[in-house]
Amino acid sequence: MKLDVLGLQFDNLTMDEALAAGEHLLEGDRPGIVVTPNAEIAYDACKNATFRALLNGADLILPDGAGVVLAAKILGTPLKSKVAGIDFARNMLSVFARRGTKLYLLGSKPGVAEQAAEKMKAIAPGLVICGTADGYFKDEAPVVDKINASGAEALFVCLGAPKQERFMFANRDALTTVRLMAGLGGSLDGFAGNVKRAPKWMIRLQLEWLYRLIKEPKRLGRMMRLPKYVLLAFRARRKG
Ligand code: UDP
Repeated sequence: MKLDVLGLQFDNLTMDEALAAGEHLLEGDRPGIVVTPNAEIAYDACKNATFRALLNGADLILPDGAGVVLAAKILGTPLKSKVAGIDFARNMLSVFARRGTKLYLLGSKPGVAEQAAEKMKAIAPGLVICGTADGYFKDEAPVVDKINASGAEALFVCLGAPKQERFMFANRDALTTVRLMAGLGGSLDGFAGNVKRAPKWMIRLQLEWLYRLIKEPKRLGRMMRLPKYVLLAFRARRKG
């Protein structure tokens, strides 16, 4: 069942239901698209009708993050659960391994996808990774050719938003073997273990966001989208 949260039609699913929906896409006859907007991306979608329409065209829209879950609650239409993109991806690895589904990893800086592939094979023994490519390319056509030549049935597209969503929709018809593709932001960095986590005491005090901000002050503009998004939910409820 779809649930509207500030214009985005989220799928209202538990993690298990999301995994079943993902497996269902694998059985389809065209590439199914999964998007995982967090509050920052959902805020951009509120402000940009074209991007919003693109996201709403996906087969599965999963709420990546507490911000979206909070907004849905404020609006009086709570979502069942947060389904973070990286958690969905991690759980799908076992589904792929069980079914023998070939997975291709696209995105991040050179070398990261290969590192992520090794970690993924340890998480889901038997997993077949049929190819990897970094996310810094000019022309999309050779990338699509490589994916097709690999026979990939599942594709993780980790180029950041909105680049990854544009890539998936623009190349949907050209991807001949893919049945499920998911836009997963920085997930390959996460799997590869490249993201430096905050010191334990900061994680304990729930201050990991502050650590990231100190490391990368240019994130401030991006991070401010979360409170702005929550504010939109309050405003919409008042109008409601
Ligand atoms: N990335 C990429 N190609 C690009 C831009 C970004 O592969 O042209 C990768 C980047 O290396 C990172 C991921 O996309 O691994 C997500 O980037 P970011 O954290 O900025 O995106 P978010 O998911 O937060 O929107």
